[in-house]
Amino acid sequence: MDILLLKSKEKLGCNRCEKCCIYRGDIRLTPINVCEISQFLNISIKEFLEQYTNKLKGEEPELVLRTRGELKECILYSRDKKGCSIHPVKPMQCVMFPLVPENLKRDYFYNSNQCVIKDAKPISVNRWLNGNHHIYRKNKKICMEWIAFVEWIQPLWYRIPIEKQTEIYKILFEKYQCKKNLKWQMRKNIEEVKQCVIKEGEENC
Ligand code: SF4
Ligand code: SF4
Repeated sequence: MDILLLKSKEKLGCNRCEKCCIYRGDIRLTPINVCEISQFLNISIKEFLEQYTNKLKGEEPELVLRTRGELKECILYSRDKKGCSIHPVKPMQCVMFPLVPENLKRDYFYNSNQCVIKDAKPISVNRWLNGNHHIYRKNKKICMEWIAFVEWIQPLWYRIPIEKQTEIYKILFEKYQCKKNLKWQMRKNIEEVKQCVIKEGEENC
């Protein structure tokens, strides 16, 4: 597996074969994705969570998009339009594809080689990520903060009582007011959860 840097050139392109939305594995969501997608779909966060997401078992508190059928087609894939129904607000994983981050903080990637595009011209990784979609630049930093938080909380998750886990999900994914700055609210919610988990640990000592 070759590690790619931002300046590395790869043959990247998209011929809209749709495979990445139909046979795709788990698409993880940050709280920002949850807010942005529910706003885009014009439904409440609660409705979005109930109708479009699943908890990622064993990797709590991560959420993933639901899939349809045996082929595991993404629930947000539009068969009529033959494409993503939430393109302007799609999750980071979808924006980067077929590139996968080896280390997002250091901008190390690898090519999953799941798109075979004949005659694709080599372009830089930087151009693929930033030229493809404005979401990459917009959400990369907050996405990294989310990953760091998930790495912190996951080893502690099974020590947290079930009722507290439910409360944590609500704080992380539901406690938002759409007119206020979403990133600021997400950071505040993460801090609240951290304090709540730390306090819970102290009480159990
Ligand atoms: S990104 Fe790749 S797999 Fe997805 S539609 Fe384009 S070519 Fe197909
Ligand atoms: S969110 Fe959109 S781009 Fe991502 S897998 Fe679903 S349909 Fe495809």
